[in-house]
Amino acid sequence: MRSLLILIALLSLLATSVAEADERAPLRPDMDYVLDGGDRLQISEVIGLPEFAWEPTGPEQASFGYDTRTYWLRMTIPGSEEPRLLHVQYPLLDSLLVYFVQDGRIVNQYTLGDRLPFAARPIPHEDFVVPVPAGEALTVFIRVQSESSVRVPAYIWPADAFHAAQGPRQMALGLYFGVLICMVVYNLFGYGMTREPSFFSYSLYVIFIGLMMAALSGSGFRYVWPENLWLQDRAIVLFGSLSFLFAAVFISQLLNVSKHSAFFQRGLWIVGGVAGAFALSGLVFPYSISIKLLLGFALFACVFILALALAMWSKGLVYARVFTVAWFTFLAAVIFNSLAYLGFLDGQFIQRYAIMMGSGIEVLLLSWVLTLRYSEERSMKLAAQEDALMLAAEAQEAQRQLNDELEERVAERTFELEMALRELQEVNHELERKNSEDSLTGLFNRRHFDRQLTAEFRRSWRNQEPLALIMLDIDHFKQVNDTHGHMIGDQILVEIAKRLKTAVRRSGDTVCRYGGEEFALILANTGEDDAKSVASKIASAVREQPFDTDAGPIQVTVSLGICVAHEGLFEVPEQLLQAADEALYGAKHRGRDQVVVARSSILQDSAASD
Ligand code: GH3
Ligand code: MG
Ligand code: MG
Repeated sequence: MRSLLILIALLSLLATSVAEADERAPLRPDMDYVLDGGDRLQISEVIGLPEFAWEPTGPEQASFGYDTRTYWLRMTIPGSEEPRLLHVQYPLLDSLLVYFVQDGRIVNQYTLGDRLPFAARPIPHEDFVVPVPAGEALTVFIRVQSESSVRVPAYIWPADAFHAAQGPRQMALGLYFGVLICMVVYNLFGYGMTREPSFFSYSLYVIFIGLMMAALSGSGFRYVWPENLWLQDRAIVLFGSLSFLFAAVFISQLLNVSKHSAFFQRGLWIVGGVAGAFALSGLVFPYSISIKLLLGFALFACVFILALALAMWSKGLVYARVFTVAWFTFLAAVIFNSLAYLGFLDGQFIQRYAIMMGSGIEVLLLSWVLTLRYSEERSMKLAAQEDALMLAAEAQEAQRQLNDELEERVAERTFELEMALRELQEVNHELERKNSEDSLTGLFNRRHFDRQLTAEFRRSWRNQEPLALIMLDIDHFKQVNDTHGHMIGDQILVEIAKRLKTAVRRSGDTVCRYGGEEFALILANTGEDDAKSVASKIASAVREQPFDTDAGPIQVTVSLGICVAHEGLFEVPEQLLQAADEALYGAKHRGRDQVVVARSSILQDSAASD
């Protein structure tokens, strides 16, 4: 971008310096003028005017500002046989009548001005160019009437020098419009690719700046709208105001003015609105009025925009700096141009090319700003996107960690719960055990016995297996207590429990303390013979080994009653218990220290007694 800028600047400098060098060649004769305020004079009358009616235009070119009245100009050209051209270097004059007069006689005359179609020109050129008749000295009379600024910079050229000078001039113009077209195409592509509206408004701005410059330089009339006199009459006001309108839109978008300053944004809307109104009014009102208003407005708008640019710069917008330089270049060109118009600065160069160079450089710089801003915005967007992605990733990671922690905690809690449950189960178990245990002997207690008897009774019934129940009572235990005391009695009870446990080893057997000094043994799937042998073993185990107590060894005996429940014999376990109890009673009755099996008679008795 920068290198392109430098290249263009060098090329335009080269082109303009060539043009300037060539333009020193033409002759610029002195001019006199007469103001024909009422527009009454005919050429014949003008030729005959007395010398005192004419006034010199001074050393500068003939220039009368914005004045719609008719002016007559006069200049004298020395005679020559060489082909020569008269060049009026101001393309915007409405009406221009040129008379070549020799000895009071009109030798040749031309009707010029941009109120005529371009094709009517004797020599096709953006400015007004006519051939000078060869021969003796001539007086040229020019009648000028225009709604634009009335300026008649007239030169006499040797024809070949004039044509030679056109090359650099056309090149400079071509270069200028070429750059503008490139910028428009490039930025329209940019708009197509990115849909960034400032690319589009910039393109429109450049298009209208280009059209205005084309109108000012006469190239527009020559190449773009040679037949369209209506447009030629309004082009400058129309395109000038439209370029201000789109400048306002573009600047607002480029510098994001609404974000930074409500005041300047409002000002921009006003500039844009007024410019739009000028564009419309230029279609209706005469040029002479609207051009003056537009110029005043343009001066104000340019200064306002420069102030805006400086304000944005001071707010720290990087590209506002380049924008300020761009706009200042343009403004400087306009000011130089105006000063030259007003006669404060001399030089064809400034008048012709300053505004073009200014606007050309401005257009290039603005395109640069646009690209700068776009790339900055894009990198900002990218950074924001990256940030968002990173945040999302962090959030995800945090979520994952949270999940992990949660899972871990749940696992911990579950484990703790399981442990507690197990402990609870153990406690429950322990409680259950304690609940069914006899505290003195460690055997099952009565409560457990009742439950166990019912369960085993049902099981035997279901499996069609015999169930044996042995009831045991210590003989004359009251005496032991009375003789040695309860403590000693208890020691015997504990020892008997041990012997019972030793005698009964099968897993299906249950040894219980039924109450006091009575014990009960439930023997699952056990027939009468087996039960009898177990009972006898117990009886002898008690009898044959005296009990070691604190009161010395004590001999005791036990009586046992057995009943075996066969299939269908009893309906409820209580009947079995009663039968066994009665067998025990039988054993006591028969003299103690013996085993009695419930006889069928007893059983029948018990069944009958139920
Ligand atoms: P038999 O059974 O031979 O007819 O005579 P017995 O003296 O054993 O008479 P009975 O069964 O009626 O007496 C039970 C006695 O057992 C009463 C009580 O002194 C004793 N006894 C009951 N429970 C306990 C106990 O837990 N500890 C002690 N030391 N003695 C108990
Ligand atoms: Mg008893
Ligand atoms: Mg007893």
